[in-house]
Order: sequence, then structure tokens, then C-alpha cells
Amino acid sequence: MNTNRKKMKIVQCWDDGVTTDIQVINILRRHGAKATFNLNAGLHESERKFSWVFKNTEVWKLGWQEMQSIYGGFTNANHSLTHPHLTKIFINDARENIIVGRDSSV
Ligand SMILES: [Zn+2]
Repeated sequence: MNTNRKKMKIVQCWDDGVTTDIQVINILRRHGAKATFNLNAGLHESERKFSWVFKNTEVWKLGWQEMQSIYGGFTNANHSLTHPHLTKIFINDARENIIVGRDSSV
């Protein structure tokens, strides 16, 4: 038996505040793991909302009403207000999108 085992730390971040985060969180809670969820405050509505298709699967944004309970106990970070391609917009627009996103976070 190896008695020199070191604990491994894994840093994980999940993006965009989508319904599949619920499955991720259930797994994380079961294992007592921590994670950061990067959210876009400007892209959520009170109820879940269809957002895009990824590999033939619909991706739905979580609704504001459920987000606090879903993400409770985890770190929420600013992922900008509306998720623009920050390198493809003017720097002042990027700055504003980040700042307003931060000030509007969950
Ligand atoms: Zn993202």
C-alpha cells in the first residue's frame, strides 16, 4: 500500500448556465467536489430558454428563478454579460460587457 499518496486538486469551470449543469452539479455534490460556473447574466430569462443546438442536442439556458438554488454552494463567475467574441468587438464594448456582466451576476 502506498502511504505517500498526495491529494490531487482539480480545478474545473463550467460555462454558460445551461440545463446540463444540473447533472454536473448532482455529480459534484455526490463527491463533495467544488467548481466554478461561469455565467452570462444578460442571457437568462426568468424561465428556461432554448439557446442553440450542439451536436444534434438542444442546449437550454437555465431560468433566473432556479439558478440560485441550482448553483448554491458553488462559485459563480462573470462570463461577460452577453457572451460576445471579445476579441472581435471594440475594446470599449468588451470592457462594458464584462463590467455590466460582473455587476449583474447572480
Ligand atoms: Zn461560454
